[in-house]
Amino acid sequence: MNYKVIPVTAFQQNCSLVWDEQTMEGALIDPGGDEERLLAAARQAGVTLTRLLLTHGHLDHVGAARLLADRLGIPVEGPQEEDRFWLENLPEQAAMFGFPDTAAFLPDRWLNDGDTVQVGTLSLDVIHCPGHTPGHVVFYQPAAQLAFVGDVLFKGSIGRTDFPRGDHDALIRAIRTRLFPLGDDVTFIPGHGPLSTFGRERLGNPFVAD
Ligand SMILES: [Zn+2]
Repeated sequence: MNYKVIPVTAFQQNCSLVWDEQTMEGALIDPGGDEERLLAAARQAGVTLTRLLLTHGHLDHVGAARLLADRLGIPVEGPQEEDRFWLENLPEQAAMFGFPDTAAFLPDRWLNDGDTVQVGTLSLDVIHCPGHTPGHVVFYQPAAQLAFVGDVLFKGSIGRTDFPRGDHDALIRAIRTRLFPLGDDVTFIPGHGPLSTFGRERLGNPFVAD
């Protein structure tokens, strides 16, 4: 699997373009905004977008999803349904953060722990990791040892839990029991900031180190 990280919006959210080099079919994970940049990146890589994948319902991760889905005629998959309330209040999130008007929408497919999503011939595993939001999911590609973790885990930090229905203990538990067992060598792409590996966070992350 190939991928390219494209920071979008004023929050510099890491949108990931992922694709299968055999079929050149791809997906955008967390298309938070700047849709023209995302379309240009896909075009430049020669990738045909077949779906949009969402880790959770925060505006900076989903802001361009409905627009791109309608324009390209492709489905939106994720997050888990506990994040329904976040997607239903997108207009309020947009007003609060000074974003352009964003209509509420729901995905074509809610995801659950253990589901898989398809990108060309590649499968990504869906792992439910609540805490930052209750319906947050992580996408994991075993062969590439790559995890797209949204706002669950960052290099040296973890996601905020001071939002409605945030849960600090659940977040720590999800990182330790659902993500770290995938292996120290797994590289993760967080929703913001630089990449890291689970092994490096187990050594040095003050929130979740062993
Ligand atoms: Zn978030």
